[in-house]
Amino acid sequence: MAADADKERKMKAAVLHAPGVIKCEEVPIPRLIDGEALVKVKAAGVCGSDIRRVMVTGTYHFPTIPGHEFAGEVVEVAGEAGNVRPGDRVVVIPLIPCGRCDFCRVGDYALCDDYDYLGSRTDGGFAEYVKAPARNLIPIPDGVDYETAAATEPAAVALHGLRRARIEPGDSLAVLGAGPIGVLVAQWARALGAKAVYLVDTVEEKLELAKRLDFLPENCIDAGKADPIQAIKDRTGGRGVSLVVEAAGVPATLKGSLEIAGKGGRVLLLGNPQEDVTLPAKLISGILRKQLTLCGTWNSEFRPYPVNEWKLTLDFMARGLIKVLPLISHRFSLEDVAEAFDMMYHRRQVFNRVFFIPG
Ligand SMILES: [Zn+2]
Ligand SMILES: [Zn+2]
Repeated sequence: MAADADKERKMKAAVLHAPGVIKCEEVPIPRLIDGEALVKVKAAGVCGSDIRRVMVTGTYHFPTIPGHEFAGEVVEVAGEAGNVRPGDRVVVIPLIPCGRCDFCRVGDYALCDDYDYLGSRTDGGFAEYVKAPARNLIPIPDGVDYETAAATEPAAVALHGLRRARIEPGDSLAVLGAGPIGVLVAQWARALGAKAVYLVDTVEEKLELAKRLDFLPENCIDAGKADPIQAIKDRTGGRGVSLVVEAAGVPATLKGSLEIAGKGGRVLLLGNPQEDVTLPAKLISGILRKQLTLCGTWNSEFRPYPVNEWKLTLDFMARGLIKVLPLISHRFSLEDVAEAFDMMYHRRQVFNRVFFIPG
């Protein structure tokens, strides 16, 4: 294509200009440099972190196209991009590691000192097209649709957390927060051999959804109707569970997770904190006396060995063990981006997994 004509190539994108100011606009299609691929976005999911990023905190600079949980089709590659070719269905790892720091050298990309990130530091997937280094692309197995594949990022984050907390077959697990990430954690725990999975939320619709994914109704606990700490103690003979996943990030669930954890238990902190928490001495004493292990988790691992959590996630999706489609509550076009974020931020409707479907 001639250079002049190339300049004319435009696409629709959701562009963030300032916190709370996001608009669907025509912008140039990104130009590739060697080693990059252009992906036509087929489905882009909204992460919980996107809501705060778009409405409150903003991105690192403006304007930015948000969106880091997406899948699409490769339409162009530049230079050496041996792993993918046009026509491939792919998911895109949003973290672009520097490749030079000590952590990158040993494959701990999530701990990179100087990373780039699609959808917060550089343009992401709420657009018709997005560019990324070809090595960040992973082919989607047959039988996994684009919307399911677009949730590889949060599903890999859920897996990474459980691996950090050293999940074992036979664990009893409580997940506090039954949003998309909480339900993904619960599905992983079940697939990895947990003997019981309890899901706690205050929103009845979210628990109903978990029941549709075959979690036992009596283990889906509505914290608005019953005291979840007592409910879980009742169901575990007063012992509490061996692993608690805090997936809501609010003070009540953080405190509750310390109470629900049984002796020798582990508590995984997964939910982004929404505010400061004051821990009563009694709970801190409980951490000591019960010999709890508190564990943090961040991002996911995609090192080649021993486990690439992204590839494992796609494999479990292909086997039907991790399901995403039942979690979808809304699909929006890019034109509706402002209304969509307004709805989510102000919780005007109950929502779960929300997608933008460009074009
Ligand atoms: Zn995310
Ligand atoms: Zn690095």
